[in-house]
Amino acid sequence: MSNVEQRLEKILDHVKRHNQGEHEFHQAVKEVIETLGPVLRKHPEYAEQKIIERICEPERQIIFRVPWMDDNGEVQINRGFRVGFNSALGPYKGGLRFHPSVYLGIIKFLGFEQTFKNALSGMPIGGAKGGADFDPKGKSDSEVMRFCQSYMTELYRHIGEMTDVPAGDIGVGAREIGYLFGQYKRITNRYESGVLTGKSPQWGGALVRREATGYGAIFFAQEMLRVRGESLEGKTCIVSGSGNVAIYAIEKLQQLGARVVACSDSGGVIYDKRGLDLDSIKRIKEVERKRISEYHQIHPEAEYYAEGVIWNIPCDFAFPCATQNEISEASARKLLENGCIGVSEGANMPVTPKGVKLFLDAGIAYGPGKAANAGGVATSALEMQQNASRDTWSFEYTEDRLQKIMANIHANCFETAAEYDSPGNYVVGANIVGFKRVAEAMLAFGLI
Ligand code: GLU
Repeated sequence: MSNVEQRLEKILDHVKRHNQGEHEFHQAVKEVIETLGPVLRKHPEYAEQKIIERICEPERQIIFRVPWMDDNGEVQINRGFRVGFNSALGPYKGGLRFHPSVYLGIIKFLGFEQTFKNALSGMPIGGAKGGADFDPKGKSDSEVMRFCQSYMTELYRHIGEMTDVPAGDIGVGAREIGYLFGQYKRITNRYESGVLTGKSPQWGGALVRREATGYGAIFFAQEMLRVRGESLEGKTCIVSGSGNVAIYAIEKLQQLGARVVACSDSGGVIYDKRGLDLDSIKRIKEVERKRISEYHQIHPEAEYYAEGVIWNIPCDFAFPCATQNEISEASARKLLENGCIGVSEGANMPVTPKGVKLFLDAGIAYGPGKAANAGGVATSALEMQQNASRDTWSFEYTEDRLQKIMANIHANCFETAAEYDSPGNYVVGANIVGFKRVAEAMLAFGLI
């Protein structure tokens, strides 16, 4: 093992020992570190200044109690988090996740990924993530409001448009951002639009932000196919999930002439061979906030599998848009066996390391989340620009900006992968481009 490899191994070992039990965080760090050997060989100054070691240690971690009262008058207590991972390129930026699985290891993996993703987007934003182990499922509007108000009552002192700008993630959409912003405005006595992104366009939000993560994952897939002389038109696709990312991934795929046959939620999988009826999905999920099994009531000819694995359904292109580690090694193998030629990640770290290896070895078009789903946060940065200039842009103009950003991310990853002797490997490309941007800024700032 070379000196560089030994050093990287030592860093990973240190991360594991100092962040015990945080498996998702270890996984995210390992996946990046594994690709950085050639960068350290070219740039010994990164090693001298311990840039990787510093990047692996969040700049700050805030953990707090979130007490709130449910509709029965019972006191409930949740744990809130906000991890500011890196602010070398701009204010901390990243979403909030409200989900019962949330603990420090999940927030740290997401914050770590966000740092590289945001750098890769080319926008002036640092990396962060936050959230709570609150389960919005089955909660009334007033319970969600009381929870958000309590959460913001602590969070407000740590954020600001020049300091830290949260947004949504799983379980946090325009409704939650509304309650959070309302409480922030009330406590601080400031209409500071740029403190949160993903706001409703009626009060400071950017058009296309809602669609941006899903659309972006499709634009990225389009680019990956373009360099292979192919397109999405006529392709059979599956999109896991049925939340904000999945819905707008499906929308853009349908606009581009692809046939999307399956989606899912934590309760099961819908398989509609004729192509999904997106209006019904939007109504079930965005308006009624119900389970995807309802689709089967409207379309009895579609199949519904309560325990099913969506990845067993044959497709040309797969878009994991649900959550981390949703594609196991077995599912990755099944996708390949069924002739899948590409995977573009709308979710963060949805493929297990063994699954990623299978995709890379097979040479399919594999777009990792840091690159493929960067459209969401990039459009958040466009929202910040509009807030700073008190301007609003049209849907067409904003979507055009998003498309150009995704094409640019793709080109950077593609060229860098080739430069580092890994042609077509977007994992290598994305990690190296993101890492170098952060590393250069950190070097410029001295030892901080
Ligand atoms: N949660 C999203 C992500 O994973 C978006 C974050 C943002 O817009 O700040 O990138």
